[in-house]
Amino acid sequence: MRLRNISGSRELIAASDYVIHEPQEHRGGWGEIFGNDHPIRIEIGMGKGRFIVELAGSHPDINYVGIEKYSSVLLRGIQKMEEEPLDNLYFIRMDAEEITSVFGPGEVDRIYLNFSDPWPKDRHAKRRLPSREFLRRYDEILKRDGVIEFKTDNRELFQFALDELEPAGWHLERMTRDLHHDEEMMRDNVMTEYEERFSSMGNPIYKYIISR
Ligand code: SAM
Repeated sequence: MRLRNISGSRELIAASDYVIHEPQEHRGGWGEIFGNDHPIRIEIGMGKGRFIVELAGSHPDINYVGIEKYSSVLLRGIQKMEEEPLDNLYFIRMDAEEITSVFGPGEVDRIYLNFSDPWPKDRHAKRRLPSREFLRRYDEILKRDGVIEFKTDNRELFQFALDELEPAGWHLERMTRDLHHDEEMMRDNVMTEYEERFSSMGNPIYKYIISR
């Protein structure tokens, strides 16, 4: 259903063909949704969706799923799809804590985490998307040679993410503490909404790529 004539972000999302409404029903069978067996890459905490929409537009042979907890933000991604529909991109409105009930073992080819919420209080560390608790979930759904790519401008969160790798059994493939001045890692970089905002303020952008 098209978005016009519907008000309220929950209602809009419920009516959108670009959103998978019962994602658990597709666990292990995402290829059927896309109608092909191309690799599936996901962004967790996609916000308004600039990154994943651009990526999907430039890689038609890869399937993408954008995951976002809040309707009001996800709506902006849906509006981008309304303007320029893509058949290799779907969205899910959900809390990523439930991610293993949505994708089967090894079903995901790559995971993107961009400017994840820092949750600065120690007692909220488990909610941070690069935490060991989340790495355990990613381990279940990511194929054996799959990687996670994480970008942030938050130095403390980046250090936390690095410290989580060893206890969780992951290792660093590549990293930079100044992405925008790292020629090699900047190649093919796709900017996110937050990246645009913080890099234009002069903040360095941190990035890692990890594997098991
Ligand atoms: N990735 C976008 C960017 O770089 O512009 C948005 C960054 S924003 C700081 C973080 C986003 O992650 C928010 O939209 C938030 O709602 C979402 N988020 C945080 N925790 C989440 C979770 N557990 N599951 C799904 N989305 C989550």
